[in-house]
Amino acid sequence: MTVGIIGGGQLGRMMALAGYPLGLDFLFLDPSRDAPAGKVAPVVHAQFTDPKVLKWLSQHSQVLTFDWENISVEALRKHAAGARRARICPPVPALATAQDRVAEKRLFERLGIPTTRWRAVGSRTQLERAAREIGLPGVLKTRRMGYDGKGQARIGSHEDLERAWQSLGSVPLIYEEWVPFECEVSIIGARSTRGETVFYPLNGNVHADGILRVTRAPYGAARWHRSAIDYLTRCLEHFRYAGVLNIEFFVRQGRLVANEMAPRVHNSGHWTIEGSATSQFENHLRAILGLPLGSTRPTGHSAMINLIGEMPAREALLGVPGLHLHDYGKQPRPGRKLGHCTLVEPSAAQRDRLARRLLAQVAPGVRLP
Ligand code: AMP
Repeated sequence: MTVGIIGGGQLGRMMALAGYPLGLDFLFLDPSRDAPAGKVAPVVHAQFTDPKVLKWLSQHSQVLTFDWENISVEALRKHAAGARRARICPPVPALATAQDRVAEKRLFERLGIPTTRWRAVGSRTQLERAAREIGLPGVLKTRRMGYDGKGQARIGSHEDLERAWQSLGSVPLIYEEWVPFECEVSIIGARSTRGETVFYPLNGNVHADGILRVTRAPYGAARWHRSAIDYLTRCLEHFRYAGVLNIEFFVRQGRLVANEMAPRVHNSGHWTIEGSATSQFENHLRAILGLPLGSTRPTGHSAMINLIGEMPAREALLGVPGLHLHDYGKQPRPGRKLGHCTLVEPSAAQRDRLARRLLAQVAPGVRLP
């Protein structure tokens, strides 16, 4: 059975590594010659929108999935309309919603999921009005193609509006209130084509400069976990979803406020490879192939630390007892996710102690609350 994956980044690569023990094969589509998945599976090098290559991929796969969000919905829709095409999972409408921050906010509101206050911004005048109505501080974001803090400007005072408009104003935008959050959490769950669902324990996430640095799980109060499962279930059912879905939240005054969703395996779930009975990658594959979903029981208290910008010496990392290293084989570049490491400890206190020691070594500026 072959799974076609659009995008050959580290997420796709980890998906393939999770799928081989199940007897699955993989074919990737990625324009980049050094796509991380290329080390573990065949990659067809072409544009994501190339109709001939999408058709070829479809003819050679039982199901098509994707490992990154900014692929063309239009190309996928056109492709899916053709005869004898492989199913696309997760559903394209979920991808379309996640690609547009305004559509995402509207979905959250429609499903009764608390989210940040926001206004769509298409002109300088609308930006002024949004800042007046929503208030300062705020954050101006591109509606589309934003990730890892790219395409965002924090607005602290009225003077920041002009600078933010100059840097981002050429594309449609959204203005959001700046949430004074206590912490950030995310939930990951899977729904299979047969309608079965599973949920992982809540993740506690630490970001710096808009990029995820650390995830700890299980994390947070049981009632946060219950609310997160409720909100994620609403989204899964709304789309009659198949695959893994993630929602990120701010915790404000003890309540969850949805920030965004990702219709794919997610960085905040990487700890599940060693820290859970079944990883998010394996459950994504099981879900899209209609196989029974695997247990999400945690095997301990996990911390995942992203390795960003440059790779620390392998010897130093592997000297940390119990550390699991994942090197994606990417060229170093400032702000680029090059790998991650995971610790799984018997208690939250032991995990945090070890994680702090490791952070001092690999990301000295990042503090764990
Ligand atoms: P995003 O691309 O929306 O996931 O934003 C990346 C990170 O920037 C988030 O995880 C937060 O740490 C921060 N951030 C984004 N939007 C807001 C907001 N409205 N209020 C406070 N922090 C934010």
